Amino acid sequence: MFLNIFLSIILYAAIALAPLDALAQSSLPPLSPAVEQAMERVTRHAPVMKAIEAIKGSSVRMLEAQVRITEIPAPPFKEKARAEYYLTRIKAAGIADAYIDAEGNVIGIRRGKGKGPKLVVSAHLDTVFPEGTDVKVREKDGRYYAPGIGDDGAGLATLLAMTEHLHHAGVRTIGDIMVVGSVGEEGLGDLRGMKALFRDHKDIDGFISLDGVGIGRIVNTATGSHRFSVTFTGPGGHSFAAFGLPSAIHAMGRAVAKIGDLVPPANPKTTFTVGTVSGGTSVNAIAGSATIGIDVRSNSHSELVKFVEQVMAAIHEAVADENKRWNTRSKITVAIKQVGDRPAGSIPANALIVQAARAAHKAVGVETRAISASSTDSNLPISLGVPAITLSSGGQGGRSHSLQEWYAPVNNTLGAQNVLLLALALAGIEQVSEPLLEKRPPRP
Ligand SMILES: [Zn+2]
Repeated sequence: MFLNIFLSIILYAAIALAPLDALAQSSLPPLSPAVEQAMERVTRHAPVMKAIEAIKGSSVRMLEAQVRITEIPAPPFKEKARAEYYLTRIKAAGIADAYIDAEGNVIGIRRGKGKGPKLVVSAHLDTVFPEGTDVKVREKDGRYYAPGIGDDGAGLATLLAMTEHLHHAGVRTIGDIMVVGSVGEEGLGDLRGMKALFRDHKDIDGFISLDGVGIGRIVNTATGSHRFSVTFTGPGGHSFAAFGLPSAIHAMGRAVAKIGDLVPPANPKTTFTVGTVSGGTSVNAIAGSATIGIDVRSNSHSELVKFVEQVMAAIHEAVADENKRWNTRSKITVAIKQVGDRPAGSIPANALIVQAARAAHKAVGVETRAISASSTDSNLPISLGVPAITLSSGGQGGRSHSLQEWYAPVNNTLGAQNVLLLALALAGIEQVSEPLLEKRPPRP
């Protein structure tokens, strides 16, 4: 009892002293009383205090798990070994109902008392690094170097810590908490893990992705992207003897020039690039084939679709121009293949799940630094209208997506404290706090 009172004093002090800078405070709407009250009930519940204290003392254990996970390679489409290890850790953390789904996601279901909402807390298993990349972790001056150690080794370790400490403290939730190690978050993985998860589970009511290092940022806007591989094909021929035939490379060049002149809206931010070109066989041959890779991104789904239409029009105009220029029976044709589809969208900055995340930041003494846009696993649920955010996992780091990626375990337990409180406020605790998350009718 004394301990509880003592801990609650510490927690109260943390709440009172939570630094929120003037800018953030004035630009963010005030938290609703319902959110403040729910978070207060959660933070004062004895088993929760026990869990938070245990997490605070688990810095070394968390780092060990992070290193272990990072050292199991998980290239795109080859996450299996890491998934199998993660599954054993999730089971050891007290979730008996855990398995790997058909797509390769690790899924653990921590059941609530029933009739509550279903919340997913997730981190991604895959890295951007190809097979054969050296993923051994090396420490130097307090920094731990390895590809993928922060993105998303930090998220996976944080998710595991949350799961372990909910179990050890015996916190009984009202809603179900689904713990997910996802596949296919990066690049051409194209959110395949999320697409499968939300196809197979129509009853998910809320979603939190833990992605990357640092703390204080809430991603509520999903930057969508459409990617295309565009191949121009023509007759080809000798540069001198067959002169007069249309060229696949010339058509491609016209297309690149036209695309380069397009002007996307600045707000919502919409961007494009022709990232790769290839084609032709010889300097003295009219090219029979050429291919470009195009990436278009936007924070708005409708702007994304609109801009992609302009890109497509530019490509077809370019082909027509090249064919008109030579006016022969042999024509250039074009094949457009979509190689990436990450949907865009956003949830309001004052949505309940965002407010709850701000309240959780406050409860662990962290300032909400930004409510912002990114491309993460949350893109998929956001596009389906499911309340979803992406948070980072504490610690410090840099150079993600590079071989020089590093992580420093400074305040590396903050992310786990934060997401534990947030998940409990959203899912509710039996006889303590009603779920903030609304149970939604199952999606069709
Ligand atoms: Zn990531």
